[in-house]
Amino acid sequence: MERKGKKFCILCGKTEIEKIIVDGFCEDCIKKERKLFEISTEPFSIKVCLNCNEIFSEKKYYNLEKNFHKTIREALSDYFSSGKIKTNSDINLDIQPLLPTNFDDFLEKRKIPVKIRGFGRVDPRLPSYFEEQEVEVKIERIICFRCDKIKRRYYKAILQFRTKKTNITPEEQNEIIETVCQILQKQIKIDRMAYISKIEKNKGGFDIYLGSTSAANLIASTLRDQMGFSMKKSYKKSGVDKSSGKTVYQTTISLRLPIFKIGDIISIEKQDPIQITGVERGKFLGIKLDNLEHISIPIKELWNFQIDVIAEKSSFKDFMILSRTYNSIQLLDMENFEVKEIYTKQLSTDTLKEGLQVKGVEIKNNIYLIQTNDSEGVQSK
Ligand SMILES: [Zn+2]
Ligand SMILES: [Zn+2]
Repeated sequence: MERKGKKFCILCGKTEIEKIIVDGFCEDCIKKERKLFEISTEPFSIKVCLNCNEIFSEKKYYNLEKNFHKTIREALSDYFSSGKIKTNSDINLDIQPLLPTNFDDFLEKRKIPVKIRGFGRVDPRLPSYFEEQEVEVKIERIICFRCDKIKRRYYKAILQFRTKKTNITPEEQNEIIETVCQILQKQIKIDRMAYISKIEKNKGGFDIYLGSTSAANLIASTLRDQMGFSMKKSYKKSGVDKSSGKTVYQTTISLRLPIFKIGDIISIEKQDPIQITGVERGKFLGIKLDNLEHISIPIKELWNFQIDVIAEKSSFKDFMILSRTYNSIQLLDMENFEVKEIYTKQLSTDTLKEGLQVKGVEIKNNIYLIQTNDSEGVQSK
């Protein structure tokens, strides 16, 4: 509109000298007529678990443990940006819940006021400005899906720890449980169902019941590669998921420890002695004591053969190297001070110096010096 050649507002009459006039309206009247954003009129609510204090908004969950102010703000930002606010142009929204200082006070609240602040403009001819609205968000206290399952001791997978010997030793049990806990501590951050439902002692071993199949698979393969377990999976129908209608399967993973430990000397199919030196990426590493050849055997394959333990690591004896010649070593048995001599073709190693204490084992009248961290094995013939 124009009056004496000047634009003016058709609502309040202000002229372009006083205010910016856009399409016949002044800046102030536009702000009243056209909001930067509109909030839907539905009642707003977020859910907080009575048991674990996790917060749920729509399909996501948020852990409140660390910084509840920041977390609730994040949850509400996601909540309101999922179609609950319509913006009329490109604006920045800031969701600011008015929260009590401490968490316990927050848990007492049935609802919280939330300030929603937008910054932008409805027309590019106007400068940007702030606009604010306040809503209330109800806090529903619930028992979450996960806590409900834990309370009912629900599980999706069972890890059965056994051994091919008689029993799992307390040390082996500790190593297993420690590894399980380490993995679960990491997994729980990405998989909420990675919890232990229960542990049961069993004949020769124990069973761990887990809420998550993927956590169970990760634990099983990690322990196989770390301790040399054999692994066998089986599945069983356990019901139908009410929400998806899909069949739910329960996984059982049977893990068996070998009859030998790392460091022990074994024979495969009654062949020459091999010292097992480690487990790496699904393979046993070993040294053939006869020729010091390094070998690796896939864990899976090893279980198809007959394995005998010839000498346990704990039975290795201490010897001292008394003297060396071109092709022999004189050893002092540190237990009974008997002097023994071994003949060897392979004295390439310089580490076997006189005066050095070494570990050795007697197998069928041969003494084999055993690889430890500070000496190399050597064969005798
Ligand atoms: Zn106006
Ligand atoms: Zn919960």
